[in-house]
Amino acid sequence: MIQAPRGTKDVLPQESYLWQWIEQEMRTIAEKAGYREIRTPVFEHTELFLRGVGDTTDIVQKEMYTFEDKGKRSITLKPEGTAGVVRAVIENRLYADTLPIKAYYINSPIFRYENPQSGRLREHHQFGMEFFGSLSPSADAELIVILLALLKRFGINNLAVHINSNGCEKCRPSYLEKLRGYLKPYRNKLCDTCKIRIEQNPLRVLDCKIDADKPEVRGTPLMIDYLCDECDEHFENLKAILDKIEVPYTIDTSIVRGLDYYTKTVFEITMQTKGREMALCGGGRYDGLVSELGGPVTPAVGFGLGMERIILEMSNQNILPAAPPILDVFVCNLQKEDQSEAFLLSQLLRQSGIKADSDHMNRSLKAQFKYADKIGAKFVVIVGGEEESRGAVAVRNMNTKEQTEVSKNNLIQFLLEKGN
Ligand SMILES: [Zn+2]
Ligand SMILES: [Zn+2]
Repeated sequence: MIQAPRGTKDVLPQESYLWQWIEQEMRTIAEKAGYREIRTPVFEHTELFLRGVGDTTDIVQKEMYTFEDKGKRSITLKPEGTAGVVRAVIENRLYADTLPIKAYYINSPIFRYENPQSGRLREHHQFGMEFFGSLSPSADAELIVILLALLKRFGINNLAVHINSNGCEKCRPSYLEKLRGYLKPYRNKLCDTCKIRIEQNPLRVLDCKIDADKPEVRGTPLMIDYLCDECDEHFENLKAILDKIEVPYTIDTSIVRGLDYYTKTVFEITMQTKGREMALCGGGRYDGLVSELGGPVTPAVGFGLGMERIILEMSNQNILPAAPPILDVFVCNLQKEDQSEAFLLSQLLRQSGIKADSDHMNRSLKAQFKYADKIGAKFVVIVGGEEESRGAVAVRNMNTKEQTEVSKNNLIQFLLEKGN
């Protein structure tokens, strides 16, 4: 038997309503703030991620699904959501339109070759929001506030906002020199990849899965102590806005977010669970990425949120919404020869916006009732009874078990009124 590849997960009919529900909430919250949906391809040229995400990151070095297509081009399945959006903004010259550009993506498949034992999927789905064209920390604050509101809407509480600054192209190089100088004596305590990273990109040592928690790495100099005036002012202003709108936050110098493109603000939303703090999602500012990928200098900030992660958390906390009934109305036939009349009636009900079906399994009346009960139909309509001679049908309310004779002419109105 052929099984699904490791690290992938089906969304089955009985659980897809959860996805549709969270998607609806995400769309609503994004569109209320003026964001419109963007959809980009599942695969891109590998070079986009080498340049965009950074060729010394764990994602690029260890986790990408990269292959050569039949035209001998190197292709990669999206390992994160932002680079593709930036590529689309540049290629379609969206930056030449009115700024800011506010875009969200939803249900975007993300592929990372991770160890499935870690409980992480190799294909998961993300919701993300990207805000292009503004240098103002109010853009950073907007995304943090939207994320918080969304998570609260899902019933996830005990949330905390953690912020940090990653500096910019002006202040980061001198900090990286300090970091190199600090790390060099500990070279032999680091993993083989990080031995090389000390020279190439010492920031990535700080979020290396092997080395990040070693005491030597915990004691490194901090970017936040070496910010230039511009970065410092941005960070202070962000804090002032969060204070003003009464969003509590913690400054957390350990946030470096495993991607190279972040500048200035980086943030995470964490959740207190079983006495420890766990990051749920995060994002940050990437003022250099649009120009790095060939567009004009365009500041930007964004976040990504794993959708499976949210559903898992809601399931752990027992706060998932109940499944809606599959149908409002099931139209039963008393005799086999009434089947086509029941079929016709179910079509008429559907045209009026009522979720309806009739028997396609040649079941007895008793078995049809059992089925209607199982799928949670609110009403059963029975065609072919003695009411037929009066141009009417019997309607049974499945909750109250009350049965009423309703004229066929009034049936739709009756069901619409009683159904709510
Ligand atoms: Zn700076
Ligand atoms: Zn390492």
